[in-house]
Amino acid sequence: MITAELEKMLDVLGRLVSRDSVRTAPEEGKPFGPGPAAALEEALAIAEEMGFRTRNMENYCGWAEIGQGEEIIGIAAHLDVVPPGEGWDTDPFTMVRRGGRVYGRGVSDDKGGVTASLFAMKRLAESGRPLNKRVRLLLGTAEETGSECMEYYAAHGEPVSCGFTPDGSFPGIHGEKGGTSMTAFSKHTAIISMNGGFVTNAVCSRCVTEIPSGAVDEGALRTALARTDLAGSTVTEQDGILRIDARGTAAHASMPLAGVNAAGCTMRALADAGMKDDFVDFYNERIGTSCDGSGIGLKMADDWGELTLNNGIVKTEDGVISCTLDLRTPVTVTEEQIRAACAPFLEDDRGRIEIGAIGKPLFYPADSPLVQCLYRAYVEVTGDTENKPMVIGGGTYAKHVPGIIAFGCGFPGVDNHIHDANEFLDIDELERQTEIYVRAIENLLDI
Ligand SMILES: [Zn+2]
Repeated sequence: MITAELEKMLDVLGRLVSRDSVRTAPEEGKPFGPGPAAALEEALAIAEEMGFRTRNMENYCGWAEIGQGEEIIGIAAHLDVVPPGEGWDTDPFTMVRRGGRVYGRGVSDDKGGVTASLFAMKRLAESGRPLNKRVRLLLGTAEETGSECMEYYAAHGEPVSCGFTPDGSFPGIHGEKGGTSMTAFSKHTAIISMNGGFVTNAVCSRCVTEIPSGAVDEGALRTALARTDLAGSTVTEQDGILRIDARGTAAHASMPLAGVNAAGCTMRALADAGMKDDFVDFYNERIGTSCDGSGIGLKMADDWGELTLNNGIVKTEDGVISCTLDLRTPVTVTEEQIRAACAPFLEDDRGRIEIGAIGKPLFYPADSPLVQCLYRAYVEVTGDTENKPMVIGGGTYAKHVPGIIAFGCGFPGVDNHIHDANEFLDIDELERQTEIYVRAIENLLDI
């Protein structure tokens, strides 16, 4: 049943969706461009209409608050969205209601999270329950592009004591693997050029490679390519150059085995077809297609998951091939352990691998009070005891806001098409998310 309040929630969500908040070039006073700033202004206007105290922090972020007291329970949600991309059945920036669903960019990630959090706070404020702590919704505007918004909050805002970000999954994410970036470079290679991939945090799903015709037998190459997991490939010859166009399958870098790496398969096929080349050998030995870091001494795992390695972008500049590597390291592995384990494998005569940033993992034991408070709220509302708090390879605001973990707003087993065409949210889910967040805040008020 759609109550009057649920109608109000949908109205708020529609207003937020209508502000195209994809990050663009900075403008005066708008560090992430006009779109994210407009969405922040709208969200703060909505919060004021609901009777909350608000503050805009120079268009990096803002907050809306209820309650009194020293301590702050923080809810960190984001208003920026990823570009809509192709394939929408409706206008991505006009929220459309069909059956029991609403469609639009951000209805789930994370404007739905913002809406559920705002109304959970409203219900709490209206419940008459004395609030001995403040409850503050932090509204960020650059989560999808590096979370500078929360860095800004950390530098200029009051710290929160505990809380959550409604930007992951229920029943909560108590650990996020560390993110490490590396880049591999060729030293000498007969490959004329190799280019593929668009972003470091996705599997390189298409790769075009040019090699001298004499470097390998064309028939053997075709056979070798056909033996890989590639979705398709073509080999063409012109003016003494063999051109290989390999098509793999995209996937998020935190789950590289869900995809097929076009660059990795090409390297494998070149070797299998008999090409003798320093960088082909280096790549296959050190990076390969196993995605587990075994080639550089990093095959490691703990009780919460194993290390993953993804090659995202391959490009050739001045005859040097470079490959970006995005690694997700287990939550209990330290930077020192990573450096020590891979050191012997990073360079030889054929190629080298440079370590970029080694990011810290996030980890709260599953039985910690924060994780338990949130999990209990989920169970109380849904009755679901099958799904348990989890550890993921991705990263959320929880890494940027000390004291919080990701909690919702995605439900187990539901694919809301976030970052994809036709992103949607079930209207029932919006209501359930709000109920869970009311309980969660109540539980946090009690600790
Ligand atoms: Zn998000």
